[in-house]
Amino acid sequence: MALARYFTGILSAVLSLSLAAAEVNLYSSRKDILIVPLLEQFEEQTGIEVNLITGKASALMSRIKSEGEVSPADLLITVDAGNLHRAKAEGLVQVIQSELLESAIPEVLRDPQMHWVGLTRRARTIFYAEDRVDPKLLSTYENLVDDEWEGRICIRSSSNIYNQSLVASLIEVHGEDATEAWAKGIVANMARKPTGGDTDQLRAVAAGQCDLAISNTYYYGRLLDSERANDKKVVDTVKVFWLNQNDRGAHVNISGAAIAKYAPNYDEAIKLLEFMVSEEVQSYYAEVNHEFPVVGSATVSATIQSLGTFKSHDLNLSILGKNNKSAVMIMDRANWQ
Ligand code: FE
Repeated sequence: MALARYFTGILSAVLSLSLAAAEVNLYSSRKDILIVPLLEQFEEQTGIEVNLITGKASALMSRIKSEGEVSPADLLITVDAGNLHRAKAEGLVQVIQSELLESAIPEVLRDPQMHWVGLTRRARTIFYAEDRVDPKLLSTYENLVDDEWEGRICIRSSSNIYNQSLVASLIEVHGEDATEAWAKGIVANMARKPTGGDTDQLRAVAAGQCDLAISNTYYYGRLLDSERANDKKVVDTVKVFWLNQNDRGAHVNISGAAIAKYAPNYDEAIKLLEFMVSEEVQSYYAEVNHEFPVVGSATVSATIQSLGTFKSHDLNLSILGKNNKSAVMIMDRANWQ
C-alpha cells in the first residue's frame, strides 16, 4: 500500500514534469507581424513555448506592476529607451545576466546596469519637400529654429515618447535652458498644431501643409515599400536629410527588451533574448520594420539601404530616460502641444 502510494507519487511527479514544458511569457508592445514569425522559429529550435501578450507599452507596464510578485511576465519588449528606462525606474525589471548579450550589443544601446538592452535601432531625422526646400539650408536639429523655417515644420505632439527622447538628447548636449529656447523655436516654426503620428507628418509635407517633417526612419521605409499610389506620391516628393552629420550625428533610439523582476522563467527569457541577437534574427527583425540591427554584422533592408548611410549620435540611451522628466517639463513650458 505504502509502496503503491510511493510509486503513484513518482508517477505523478514525472507526469507533472513533462506537462510543465519549458515556456517563456512575453509582454510585447510591438505589432504581432514583427515578432510572431521569430517566436515560432524560436519554439521550433529550442522547444521552449512562447506565450505572447500584446498591448501598449504603458498598459503592459501597469499590468506587470499590478500583478506584482505573482506576475507571469518574463520578458517585456517595447520601443524607446525612455519607456525601458521607466520600467527600470519603477522597479519592474532585473539585471540581464548574459555575456553573449553584453558583447553582442554595443554599450550605448543598452542600460549600463544591463536592466534593458536594445534589439533594433531607428533614427529620428528630417524629411523635406524636394520642390520647396533647398537641402543646402538644412544642417542640424539646432538650425530648425531659424526664421527660414517659420510656419513650415510638422511634428507630432509632446506626449509622444519619441519627441521626449529627442529633447532629452538635446538637454544632454546643450543643457536645459538652451533646450527650452530650442523647443520654443520649434513651436514658433510649426506649420500647424501637432496632430497624428509620424506618417501623418510625412503625408502633410506631401500634401503641402508643411515643408519639413520630423519622423522616425522606419515610417518612411514603410511608405517606400507601399504599393499605394498615395504613399508613392509621398516618397516621390519627400526626401530624407540626415541631421548633424558634421558634428555629433543624427538622433537614434531603439526598440528593446527587459526581463521582468519576478520572471518565473528567467533562463528561458535569456535564451529568447540571445536568440534575438543572432545575426539571422537581427536581419529579419530589422528588415520587417525597416529598422537598423543592433548587431553590426546583420543586414539592413534594401529599402532602408536606399536612404544612405549616416553618422548617429553616440549617446548612451539610458540618458534619454534620465532626462525624460526635464524634457517633458521643457516641452510643456514651450507650449508644445
Ligand atoms: Fe513607432
